[in-house]
Amino acid sequence: MALTDTFNRRINYLRLSVTDRCNMRCLYCMPAEGVQDVGHDAVLSYEELQLIAESAVGLGIEKIRITGGEPTVRAGIVDFLAKLAAIPGLRHLALTTNGLLLEQMASDLYRAGVQRLNVSLDSLDPQAFREITRGGDLAKVLAGLDAAVAAGFPPPKINIVIMRGINDAEILDFAELTRSRGNSVRFIEYMPAVKDDGWQRLCFPGEEVLQRIREQYPLEAVDKGTFAGPSQDYRLPGATGSIGIITAVSGHFCSDCNRIRVTSRGQAKGCLFSDETTDLNPFLRPPDPERLTKVLQEIVQAKPEGHAIRRGEYTHSNFSMAQIGG
Ligand code: SAM
Ligand code: SF4
Repeated sequence: MALTDTFNRRINYLRLSVTDRCNMRCLYCMPAEGVQDVGHDAVLSYEELQLIAESAVGLGIEKIRITGGEPTVRAGIVDFLAKLAAIPGLRHLALTTNGLLLEQMASDLYRAGVQRLNVSLDSLDPQAFREITRGGDLAKVLAGLDAAVAAGFPPPKINIVIMRGINDAEILDFAELTRSRGNSVRFIEYMPAVKDDGWQRLCFPGEEVLQRIREQYPLEAVDKGTFAGPSQDYRLPGATGSIGIITAVSGHFCSDCNRIRVTSRGQAKGCLFSDETTDLNPFLRPPDPERLTKVLQEIVQAKPEGHAIRRGEYTHSNFSMAQIGG
């Protein structure tokens, strides 16, 4: 059954966060001291997350991405993923990770039935990486990428949050990975989750990323698949991986939006940049699958046509991507 919203967009994708916690502290995502500890009870149990996933798939969601915080730091994640993978009707199960624990977990994740990994990686320079992530070890992430391929995964997609003056000098190095390692790389525009003064100075439009690459190489456009979501994809000649831009701030993004989000505390969102959230806890504690399905359907129907960052009518409250899951 196809699930569509009132703007005739096909909604087939759920981003499900399993934790707010993380073993890194990326500058653009969370404060140096980490997110506030919410206590064990506020975080949904795996049974509750499973019920949300089953209800969403029953409605027409075909792809689930597990995210966080850092999903690999939550105890029991591999068993949970194996249960998700077994949901009838779920066609794609993916995981987004910072890759720090991937070297030791890749085989288990593959055996659990995860089909694709996205790894966030914002610099190929160890020192810059350490600064952006406030302490992350690049060598571990690179070892994790290799371990994923050795375990049987296709080369993970690499997500780079591109920030002016911080990592824009590495655009061509990242583009080169699509040839040398076969990874697809996607440049994500920095989103002002926390509205620090002068956030605009970090913004680096996706079109400018393409322009930098085109100064050096020809780029051909690539067709998007059913689950591609809001990236525009290109390819260098002879590359097996693609290059994508996600123009969340500057460009076409909302018209292709295919997703809803649920946080690890059970807050559902139809739009990342809207303050509208729906608390799913009343339908989980105690579990009421019928009302849960109905409310998820309402969230899809209430998805706004788009956000207004570019138009300057930017009114959402501060939030941490680690709480929402990116
Ligand atoms: N910890 C995992 C990771 O880093 O991949 C999963 C969670 S993280 C919140 C999901 C994605 O959100 C990452 O690719 C991250 O780069 C992106 N993200 C976080 N804050 C962002 C921001 N302010 N602007 C753009 N992307 C952001
Ligand atoms: Fe952690 Fe991912 Fe946020 Fe970085 S982007 S702080 S790795 S949750």
